[in-house]
Amino acid sequence: MKRRKFIKHLGTGSITAGAALSVPPAVHAKEQVRWKMVTAWPKNFPGLGTNANMLAKTINEMSGGRIKVKVYGAKELVPAFEVFDAVSRGTAEMGHAGAYYWKGKSEAVQFFSSVPFGLTAQEMNAWLYYGGGMDLWRELYDPFGLVPAATGNSGVQMAGWFNREINTVDDLKGLKMRIPGLGGEVLQRAGGTPVTIPGGELFTALQSGTIDATEWVGPYNDLAFGFYKVAKYYYYPGWHEPGTTMECMINKKAFNELPKDLQAIVLTACKAANLDLLAEFTARNNQALEALVNKHNVQLRALPDPVLKKLHDLSNEVVLELADKEPMAKKIYESFSQFRKQVIDWEKVSEQAYLRARTL
Ligand code: CA
Repeated sequence: MKRRKFIKHLGTGSITAGAALSVPPAVHAKEQVRWKMVTAWPKNFPGLGTNANMLAKTINEMSGGRIKVKVYGAKELVPAFEVFDAVSRGTAEMGHAGAYYWKGKSEAVQFFSSVPFGLTAQEMNAWLYYGGGMDLWRELYDPFGLVPAATGNSGVQMAGWFNREINTVDDLKGLKMRIPGLGGEVLQRAGGTPVTIPGGELFTALQSGTIDATEWVGPYNDLAFGFYKVAKYYYYPGWHEPGTTMECMINKKAFNELPKDLQAIVLTACKAANLDLLAEFTARNNQALEALVNKHNVQLRALPDPVLKKLHDLSNEVVLELADKEPMAKKIYESFSQFRKQVIDWEKVSEQAYLRARTL
């Protein structure tokens, strides 16, 4: 009876202490931060778009709702290639993209996405977190008012889908292939014609013969686009993108206004997302590859060693020239290439030796 009376009393709203329990104090409401995250991907795009969603959700949950991040797909707030500028000027507080899109801002950005014959996912994270890479990335983005973070990795990509066999370096001559960035420059030096076509138009371009070949990501994303219906050969390995890093960029002013614990939450959530995407790609690529080979009868082929050797030599030229384009590119190149040289020696007796041993 007493309890019922008490509840009835509460209902009148006359017990202020009780009411205060269910209504958050005004000071907490003021502390709630609402951020926008613009992305370079279609909304919910498998792997990339879903990684942005996961990052936002993790930040929301870790902060107990004190910071809420809303994710926007490409074109919802700004187009894909305007993510950098939008976050730089504060239209959005966060962005989710790939650093190689911003080479118009600085050639040096390309070291933070993927370099042909560069670092694998594991090595890239090692360079970023323990090899000085992250400090250089922060230094590079600082003048733009941005704080960068790695937020995912594709792992080794596939060399791509081809309508003809690649047996010698000569087979690359005259090859019209969709392959962006530094990899495209390398193909050009090998006698091919690199073209840039948005992902959504690749199927038709390959089907109509507008292009002879295309790279995209790996089995998981490539199966989704249905390339196996219009190209016969699926080549590996993805020499041009051995472990492409996705990035999260944060508006520096917005970041600095956060209390220390929320700053730590944002950066730790990025690290969690970085781990998560690589795990997702690794798991789904292996399932998708099996479906491509066994269900769709795709011809899986390795690029011949002499072709890879030639592409490697040309890649070294392209990356060296990139280093000479700007002082910051030179500084990053020196750190990157020194780390690469060292890690190759270690990998020879660890990952590489073990992966070989496992197949004996
Ligand atoms: Ca790719």
